[in-house]
Amino acid sequence: MSEKIYRQISANLLNIGVKTTLISISNLTKIQKIFTEIINSRTYSQEFYDIYFKIFQKDYRKVFPDAKSIIVTVYPQQITELYFSYNGADIRTVIPPTYIHKDEEVNIENLLNKILSNYGYCIKNFPLPEKLTTVLSGLGKYGKNNLCYVDGMGSFNTPIIYLSDLPVEEKPLSEMSLAESCKNCIRCTNNCPTKAIPEDSFLINPQRCITYFNENEFELPEWVLMNWQDTIIGCMCCQEVCPMNAKLLKNINECAGFSEAETELILKNTEFKNLPESVKIKLADLSMDKQYEILPRNLQLLVNKKFNK
Ligand code: SF4
Ligand code: SF4
Repeated sequence: MSEKIYRQISANLLNIGVKTTLISISNLTKIQKIFTEIINSRTYSQEFYDIYFKIFQKDYRKVFPDAKSIIVTVYPQQITELYFSYNGADIRTVIPPTYIHKDEEVNIENLLNKILSNYGYCIKNFPLPEKLTTVLSGLGKYGKNNLCYVDGMGSFNTPIIYLSDLPVEEKPLSEMSLAESCKNCIRCTNNCPTKAIPEDSFLINPQRCITYFNENEFELPEWVLMNWQDTIIGCMCCQEVCPMNAKLLKNINECAGFSEAETELILKNTEFKNLPESVKIKLADLSMDKQYEILPRNLQLLVNKKFNK
C-alpha cells in the first residue's frame, strides 16, 4: 500500500517539476549525527552556529512521535535578474537561485496533504539540513562548492523536507559522495573570490563565503568589501562556472526594475513599512521583503562598485 501511495505522490509531484524520495524515519538521527560530525570537524563562531546550525538539533519525537518517514522533495529554481535605476544608469544585478520562494512550497505541501489524507496519513514540517538530507536520500550529490546538485536542476534547486506517518521500507542511506563531474575539476575553487572552496573536499569554509556576509547585517571586513560581487544577495561565482550548471545559466527570470525614485528610497534606508505599496509588492515578489534590512547596504555597495566610489 505504502509503495502505491509513494508512486502516486512521486508521479504527481513530477508533473509540477518536483523530484521526490522517501526514506525511513530511522535515518533521521543518523542524518543529525553525520551533520554534527561535520560541524564538529570544523571551527565555527557561536554566531555562525546560531544562525545556520542550531535549528537542526531538534528531537523529532517531540514534534511528531508517530513519524515513520522523511519525504525529501526538490524543486527547480532560476536566476532572477533585476535592475535599479540610479544616476541615469541601470545597475544590473541578480538574485541567485534558492532565494526566491513563491508558490512552489505551498503547491508541494497541498499536493502531499491531498494525497496522504486520502489514506489517513499526514505530513509535518521539520528542520533537517536540506542539502545533506537530499544527498543522503540519493536525490542529489555534493559539488565541491558544498552545493547540492540534482540531475536536470544542477545547483539551481531548493529541497523541502517533511516528516510523514506513511510507513516505508528500510533502506540504507546513500553515500555522501562528490558528483562525478567534480573529480577532475577545480573551476569553482579557482573562481571563488574569497578562496572559500578547497580543491579536495565538498566542505567549504562558510565563514569566508560572501553569502554569510551579504545575507546578514554584520559590519563588513575590508577583505569582504574588496571582493564584493554583482549579486544583490548571495553569490554566483562558484555556480556560474560549474559545468553541471552550463545548460541552466540562460534560464533567467527577468523581473521588473526599480525606478530612480524607488532606488533612492531604498538607498535612504527607508523603513519597509514606509515604502510605497508598489515597492513593497515588488520586493515581496523577489522574497526580499523578509530580508529587507540588508537591502539598502547591499544596494549601496553595488552603486559604489558601479560608480567606482
Ligand atoms: S565547478 Fe567543477 S568542482 Fe566545482 S562543483 Fe562544479 S563540477 Fe564540481
Ligand atoms: S558562493 Fe561565492 S564566496 Fe561562497 S563559496 Fe561560492 S564562490 Fe565562494
